[in-house]
Amino acid sequence: MSRANHPHAGYITHHFAASGTDIATLSAFLAELVATDPRNVLPEGDNPPIWEAPAVGIAAASDPLFATLKQPGVVGPIHVDADHWLTGAKSVVSFFLPFSREVKKSYDKHARLPSLEWVSGRQNGEVFVNVARRALARYLQSQGGRAVVPTLQRHYQAVDLIPMWSERHVAFIAGIGTFGLHGGLLTEKGAAGRIGSVVTDLDLLPTPRPYTGVYEYCPWVTDGTCGACIARCPVGAVHDTGKDHQICLTNGRDHIRPAYAAWGYHSCGHCQNNLPCTDGIPAAKKAGSRPLTALT
Ligand code: SF4
Ligand code: SF4
Repeated sequence: MSRANHPHAGYITHHFAASGTDIATLSAFLAELVATDPRNVLPEGDNPPIWEAPAVGIAAASDPLFATLKQPGVVGPIHVDADHWLTGAKSVVSFFLPFSREVKKSYDKHARLPSLEWVSGRQNGEVFVNVARRALARYLQSQGGRAVVPTLQRHYQAVDLIPMWSERHVAFIAGIGTFGLHGGLLTEKGAAGRIGSVVTDLDLLPTPRPYTGVYEYCPWVTDGTCGACIARCPVGAVHDTGKDHQICLTNGRDHIRPAYAAWGYHSCGHCQNNLPCTDGIPAAKKAGSRPLTALT
């Protein structure tokens, strides 16, 4: 095979010695990418890593929960199935990339503003999330399948903040984690991170969902304890029934963007740092009781 036709040629230069499409091999592929790719660094300071090894899951494209995502109040009618992105889709691989110890450690518990490492990681780290999405697609292609990244397709869009492919909900279906009061995903690798997904026509073995409730890992929703993210939000965007996205966006625009104007950064992360769910599933987790249709 010529270098130009090699599945890893071009933008993705990662090489991986093993082969296979089981969950252990896909996890090892992404872990090695995170550990070795030179793009996984902050541009500032001593260039610490932005991300650590992800939690990975696989959903069957035929999982009936995908149809549920079209319901108003879950994601909405704008949401599409996996075969919208790839005719004959059989599986969706999902991953949650946790922020590195260096980024999380930099987040001062008592400061009103996020750290420079955080705001930089949120913005510059998105480049690497796309590297990981594309690398995973290329790897699946190298294993004999077709694979696409929904969020990188030209017609992908979100209307009024509602996406036609919600990677958070896909991760829930793939068994990676449940939602928390603050709206983020609570996973074995914490809640401070970003999510990616790839659709493929390879018939992969789905990973089990070790939960049934949409908020099963969040003790506030299951039994009224914790609630730490309510007090942690500096502008009152997290309340006892969820998160107000408009108030959250206004905080980024009015407070953080001006403070980091010289850098061009703007992302708050108070409700992902210094909380019981920051580094893992809260110890106080209880069995959930809400059906998927209760998700907003
Ligand atoms: S801080 Fe507590 S209440 Fe908020 S999402 Fe995390 S576990 Fe749930
Ligand atoms: S990101 Fe910041 S402003 Fe937005 S809900 Fe979380 S703590 Fe509040």
